[in-house]
Amino acid sequence: MTKPFASRLRKARWWVYPIAALMTTAMLVVGQPLVSQALPWRDLIFRGIQLIQLSNLSDQQEVEIGRQINDQLVGQRIRLLQNPEITQYVNQIGQRLASQSSRPGIPYTFQVVNDRSVNAFATMGGFVYVNRGLLTLADNEAELASVMAHEIGHIAGRHAVKQMRETAIASGLVGAAGLDRNTAANIGVELAFKRPNSRRDEYDADSLGLETMRRAGYAPSAMVSFMTKLLRDGSVPTFLSTHPATSERINRLQQSISRAGDIGDGLDSRVYRARLRSLS
Ligand code: ZN
Repeated sequence: MTKPFASRLRKARWWVYPIAALMTTAMLVVGQPLVSQALPWRDLIFRGIQLIQLSNLSDQQEVEIGRQINDQLVGQRIRLLQNPEITQYVNQIGQRLASQSSRPGIPYTFQVVNDRSVNAFATMGGFVYVNRGLLTLADNEAELASVMAHEIGHIAGRHAVKQMRETAIASGLVGAAGLDRNTAANIGVELAFKRPNSRRDEYDADSLGLETMRRAGYAPSAMVSFMTKLLRDGSVPTFLSTHPATSERINRLQQSISRAGDIGDGLDSRVYRARLRSLS
C-alpha cells in the first residue's frame, strides 16, 4: 500500500531545505570573486584567444590554422595568379593527387603564386602553393604533379605542425594551457618562407609523393626527370633544399621506381603546353 502524497512530502522536506540553503550560500561565495577578481579563462574568452594543443591537434583545427596562415600569406606576403583557367587546372591535378594520398580526409587547396621563380611549398591543413615559374619549367603535367605530390606528402606527414611545435617550444611561446592560435598562425607564416625541412622530412615527402603519384596514375619517373632537370640547371630551389643532396634523393627515387615499375600518364608535353597557353 502506498503512503498518502502529503506524508511523503513531509518526509522529503527535511533534506530539501538544507540543500537549497547550501546552494544559495555556495552561489554567493562563488559569485563574489567572479566580480572582483576575474578568472583567467574569462579573460581568454573575452579577448578572443583560442588556445590550441599542437601535440594533439585535430584535423579541423589544423585546417583552421592553415586557413588563417593562408589569409596572412595572401594578404601580405604573396600575390596569387589571377587566371581562373590555370588555377583550375592546377587545382584539378592537386585534387586528383590528394584523393590518392595517405591523407585524403581533409580538404585541399591548391593555389598558383604569381612569381616567376621556381618554387612550391605547403603549410598545413591541406594548403599547397605552386609558383608560376615552376609551372613553366615543368615539361609535362606529370612533372608538375610530382612537385605537388611531394608537397602533399609534407601535409600528410604533418611536417609543418611538427616544425611549428618545435619553434613554439624553443621560443617559449607555449604556456601550460597551450599555444595561442594567432601566435601559431604567425609562426606558420614565417616557417613557410624561412625554415628548410629536415632531411628526414624531405625523404618522407619524396616517398609519400612517389606513392601518391603512382596511385593517381601519373608516371613516377617524372619526379626523377624534374629533379634531374633542376640539378642540371643548377637552379635548385628552396623546396629542393641542398639538404639532403638532390642527387641522393634522385638515387633513392630511382631505386624505388625500378622496384615498382614506371606505369602512368601525364608525359605528353604538347598537351601540357596547350593547357598553359593562357599563362604566357
Ligand atoms: Zn620538401
